Amino acid sequence: MDRPYKRRQLRVMKFGGTSVGNAASIVKTVEIIQAAARESNIAVVVSAMSGVTDRLLEAAALSESGDRERVALILEELRKQHEDVASELIPSTAERSRIAQKMREDFHEVDHLCQGTVLLRKLTLEARDTISSLGERLSAPLVAAVLADRGMASEALDATELVVTDSYHGASEPLIDLTRERCEARLLPLLRKGIVPIVTGFIGATPEGVLTTLGRGGSDYSATILGAALEADEIVIWTDVDGVLTADPRLVPGARTIPEISYREAAELAYFGAKVLHPKTLRPLMESDIPVWIRNTFAPEQPGTKITTAGSANGGRVKALTAISDVALITVGGPGIVGVRDVLGRTFMTTGAVRADVLLVSQSSSQNDICFAVPSAVAKRTVDALRREFARDLAHHHVEHITLDQNAAIVAVVGEKMHGTPGIVGRAFGALGRENVNVVAIAQGSSECNISFLVAKKDMKAALVAAHREFELGTLNCPELAASKS
Ligand code: ADP
Ligand code: ASP
Ligand code: MG
Repeated sequence: MDRPYKRRQLRVMKFGGTSVGNAASIVKTVEIIQAAARESNIAVVVSAMSGVTDRLLEAAALSESGDRERVALILEELRKQHEDVASELIPSTAERSRIAQKMREDFHEVDHLCQGTVLLRKLTLEARDTISSLGERLSAPLVAAVLADRGMASEALDATELVVTDSYHGASEPLIDLTRERCEARLLPLLRKGIVPIVTGFIGATPEGVLTTLGRGGSDYSATILGAALEADEIVIWTDVDGVLTADPRLVPGARTIPEISYREAAELAYFGAKVLHPKTLRPLMESDIPVWIRNTFAPEQPGTKITTAGSANGGRVKALTAISDVALITVGGPGIVGVRDVLGRTFMTTGAVRADVLLVSQSSSQNDICFAVPSAVAKRTVDALRREFARDLAHHHVEHITLDQNAAIVAVVGEKMHGTPGIVGRAFGALGRENVNVVAIAQGSSECNISFLVAKKDMKAALVAAHREFELGTLNCPELAASKS
């Protein structure tokens, strides 16, 4: 890539919802950007203020049910929230009224879409995406305006200009070549002039310009898409924890920060529910060697976690745990299934067609059952699609049942080269057994660095705490701590 501006390194820095969640957090974010811009070129990606996307999706759903009043209340509340922050952070009257005008236009558009949805009583996927994108389209200009007020040249950009995606609304995928062309054409000139681009996370647009979203929590993905497109030197994801921890700190009190992990380990943790990273975050980087840092906006003195291609070896031990609580277990089975052709193939063609991620698979030949876990959000549409696919077989009782259990959770144990370490499954089973946690299914080997257990949802926390203790993740299994103790 032609990058004559690149006397300095390029960093893409993403700030999550809590990092732009209120005026005080935005000040911290802006200070981090200012300090970083002294050292390197910076492109920034921002999320919506925390909670805003949830409220917008609520407004979208209420529009479909015709509740005009509550939609108006939500939009009014959000408008006030953003205007209050703008008033607090932008002293210049001219700049403040410019941004207030821009916000009014954005709210007007979303209000219009909600009203249309109320009339039709139908929420199209396109309208849902546009409504839910408002949070980022408000926060990016806000951060850019605060930077400008502090004398830093910056420009807010709508990612619909940059991230080109397919048209799968709600979980779109980037078209990398087109995205690279757009990023080069639009961002490189800004970077050459020393202007810091502030890009909306979460969203993109089809080649025809129709707005799409990358999925909930997708701003992390936006950052790595841009980082890969610009061949950045590093990507920093600023959030509200010190890095990637050995387990979700909300569930396991003794969890500690991991100094370095590999792309594969991080991807596995993210895929199995570690909210700190969107599951697809590392995908755009798999062919590259770009390090990703996870750092705490509220404790920037902490080093954070570095995610690298190789990670840091720990002798094939367990590195971290994760869990997905919203999982559904689907079973396709019955004695007659033996006579049905290609049940496995048809089952997974069907899950693929409805874009349901299959998180774990287990087949019981004695009971003629295939059971697999998918995220709860897609469970109903998966079961409906399976019932359609197997309609004739069900009618003839070849497949006796397709059932759905919504009370499941998956606990995953992650660590590079773990498959070569004997006894990990046994230790995990032992620890879970002592807590009376029943393991419904287990999957090992689909990935070399992950073993996952399906348990009842009510047992998830106990399973995590027990496994964290068993594998000594809070203390002993930590080379840095061990070294400092000896
Ligand atoms: P942001 O808004 O910055 O994108 P998120 O809320 O999406 O932040 O992700 C950060 C949260 O992820 C943390 O507050 C933490 O509760 C949760 N989390 C879950 N698992 C982990 C883990 N293994 N390490 C760190 N944080 C985790
Ligand atoms: N604002 C979006 C969400 O809440 C994207 C993100 O925060 O990463 O899902
Ligand atoms: Mg997030």
